[in-house]
Amino acid sequence: MKDYLVRALAQDGAIRCVAAVTTGMVAEAQERHHALPTAADALGRALTGVALLGSSLKYDDTLAIRIDGGGPLGGLLVEANGRGHLRGYVKNPLVDLEAGAEGRFGVAEAVGKDGFVHVISDLGLKEPYTGMAPIRTGEIAEDLANYLLTSEQIPSAVALGVLIGKGGGVRASGGYMIQTLGGIPEDERERIERNLRAIGGVSLEIDAGTTPEELLERALKGFEHQVLEPRPLEFRCRCSRERALYTMAGVSPQELDDMIRVDGGAELICHFCNQRYHFEAGELIALRHELETRRSQEPED
Ligand SMILES: [Zn+2]
Repeated sequence: MKDYLVRALAQDGAIRCVAAVTTGMVAEAQERHHALPTAADALGRALTGVALLGSSLKYDDTLAIRIDGGGPLGGLLVEANGRGHLRGYVKNPLVDLEAGAEGRFGVAEAVGKDGFVHVISDLGLKEPYTGMAPIRTGEIAEDLANYLLTSEQIPSAVALGVLIGKGGGVRASGGYMIQTLGGIPEDERERIERNLRAIGGVSLEIDAGTTPEELLERALKGFEHQVLEPRPLEFRCRCSRERALYTMAGVSPQELDDMIRVDGGAELICHFCNQRYHFEAGELIALRHELETRRSQEPED
């Protein structure tokens, strides 16, 4: 099953639901960052979470989630855009705690509870919107639900799951989110809760071949609903060699000189995707010339 998400609306949009399968992109994230199981689990949940929260983004609009809980993972940053491109990293990918109850890989402990979830949404307006909420459990799904309720006043249930195989690799990953807007009758709320209880572990469902559409059907059982166009998802970073070189233009002339004379080149690594960009001394000399020319053309004060 390829990675994608699908949304559904019920009760004239008062109930919104989105479900996703993210196995491929989470496996790619694990591979790119050489992440051990606990770190891969946490990163996978966060990537799936940002895919769900960003499911109605358009084009190049982005949503980023930063989770800093003070635990050994050292923090996570994930980002989604309206094209279904996701990227993200965990600061310390070599974290692997003992498997806890129910075979969970200790994500809560690795994330930590002493900190905040930050959500940064850039919709191409003058200022990006940022919101935050304290971390409650470190399990990520609960923390995102708590953020949505306390910061955006949207009652939400969020389920995120990553199944790690025996060899330590990502075997299945996915999630779903259901939100109610503007208050719904008590019996409808109870029906949703009953539906969600019947779904069970989301990563096991994905592993068993349950599709996002089937998850939606089950979450919205008993509600007439409209399923929207699915959106493919993939791990894809926005970095490039050109952008990396542009970043090098930000270092001081002295540092640039050192890289040319002492190091004989430079290497830049993209945090988000772990791609390495190597620049030969010749390229840095050309960059230095370009910067000098630009400076000499700037009007003097
Ligand atoms: Zn990158």
